[in-house]
Amino acid sequence: MTDSPTIAIVGSGPIGSAYARLLLEGVPDARVVMFEAGPQLTDVPGESVRNIPDPEAKELARERSQGPQAGSFRSSLGIPESAVVEGMFTARGGTHLIDFGGEGSGHAPTFPAAAASTNVGGMGAHWTCATPAPAFSERIPFIPDDEWEGLVAEAEALLHVQHSAFGDSGIGSAIRSLLAEEFGAELPEGYGPSTLPVSGDPQPDGSMRWAGADVVLGPLIEAGNPLAERFELRDLTLVRRVEHDGPRVTGVTVQDLRTGETSFVPADLVVVAADAFRSPQLLWASGIRPRALGHYLTEHPVVISTVALDSERMSRYATEEQLDAELARRATNPADPVAAVNRIPFSEPDHPFSLQVMYAENPPFQLDPEHPASGNRWGFVNMGYGMRKQPRFEDGVTFDDGELDYRGFPNMTIRYELTDAEKAEIEAGTEHLRRAGAALGTFVAEPRLLPNGSSLHYQGTMRTGDADDGTSVADPYSRVWGYDGLVVGGNGLIPTATTMNPTLMSVAIAVRGARKAVEELTAREHAEVG
Ligand code: FAD
Repeated sequence: MTDSPTIAIVGSGPIGSAYARLLLEGVPDARVVMFEAGPQLTDVPGESVRNIPDPEAKELARERSQGPQAGSFRSSLGIPESAVVEGMFTARGGTHLIDFGGEGSGHAPTFPAAAASTNVGGMGAHWTCATPAPAFSERIPFIPDDEWEGLVAEAEALLHVQHSAFGDSGIGSAIRSLLAEEFGAELPEGYGPSTLPVSGDPQPDGSMRWAGADVVLGPLIEAGNPLAERFELRDLTLVRRVEHDGPRVTGVTVQDLRTGETSFVPADLVVVAADAFRSPQLLWASGIRPRALGHYLTEHPVVISTVALDSERMSRYATEEQLDAELARRATNPADPVAAVNRIPFSEPDHPFSLQVMYAENPPFQLDPEHPASGNRWGFVNMGYGMRKQPRFEDGVTFDDGELDYRGFPNMTIRYELTDAEKAEIEAGTEHLRRAGAALGTFVAEPRLLPNGSSLHYQGTMRTGDADDGTSVADPYSRVWGYDGLVVGGNGLIPTATTMNPTLMSVAIAVRGARKAVEELTAREHAEVG
């Protein structure tokens, strides 16, 4: 390394953005170039599309993120018109299925809801912004507790996490009281019903400006900020290969999707944060193939339901005036479905699940006007339990050099199976959901297990580990074992079975990786000067 270091980042989601921010803040003369395969959706790069007030503009932003399923935008995203799309499942708005069923589609019959987002900000432009931290065995065993607390605190600051969002809602508080009546005695101190931490900035009118990669990038996208001068974001630019000379990574080969032109960008450090499926795919395509790459896939089996809140039970803890105040607040931003978000977090030994409870004045589907709960004045909750999937080598994504996908990468096949022990835990979680529903009111949608892949929280495919023993892809600082100058980031790093939304944990892992990379880049510079 002779000049100031160049860092290439693949992917502009919250994790790539955390690396960009921390590396530029930590290495005073470094330059960061971030490559993003998808388009920039909003004037502020990486902003949550949930903040777009106009419903049509919001829908358009979602469609433009849908890669091979982006309808009329497909050719402008560099996807051949000939790639046929015939999805059997509908992906969530802003995402596209890995197995969309047409030419160049991935294969995921046992994990059919697997999806991705292709846009500046990644899935972080579409997420629900729930940011709980892992607890008990969800944590990474080789990171000391006090260090972990510091990493989480920095991750929370990067994501603008609020611990008491909607904490003043009388309705939210009544819901917590009813859940505490039902479960309180069974749960350890500090792990009872509480408000769910969320990522965003409360506004004076009581609404929330939801956070995305924009807040993580922070000063990097602020006009006139000196850090912004050393940061470059190239949208619609696909990284085709991580180049390396033996174990030493030298840069990336990128394709400008507007012109089709391919070029080599030299870099002193490459950070691959291109999601839990496409990061391992890119490494595989680059000939970087650790044994664990793509394996040990986990997610959260999810059981969801909708409950009409019972007026008699709710009025034991909330007044009519509080309900009126809640409805008035909701009326200020009816397009935002999230209000008064509560949870019961994971705890061991008796509650190895995460419950998320979102209040809304209407159910998320059309209720028959004849239904007794139709127009329920006290409203509804959409509730779901996240359950555990234990990491196993045989669950994961493999890549076929002989069959290319619609982007020209070795195609993916996802294989995944729930074990009997996991099915039993899902059964137990479903029973808890029935109890929660009965405590709050009446089910208008009974608990149901969603198809595999529905959580959108894909973990384990690039696990971090404390030994290079074939069960992990990256070392404890997210550096790919056996390579120099290559760091990976994202939910794929999470090696444990977890039940909570993973982004905060992945940002905390990235903070650790970034601190180590800053140390190394700085030490190299000093060595060269000396
Ligand atoms: P991503 O955000 O997926 O970004 C990866 C980016 O890499 C993408 O933009 C992609 O286009 C780009 N890319 C891929 N390949 C290449 C390449 N070869 N070259 C260039 N660019 C490439 N998580 C939570 O913790 N809480 C929640 O409440 C929550 N709710 C969610 C709700 C929805 C609807 C969705 C879709 C997701 C939700 N998630 C939630 C998941 C959360 O969004 C992800 O955990 C988070 O975005 C992961 O960040 P990332 O940076 O690792 O990856």
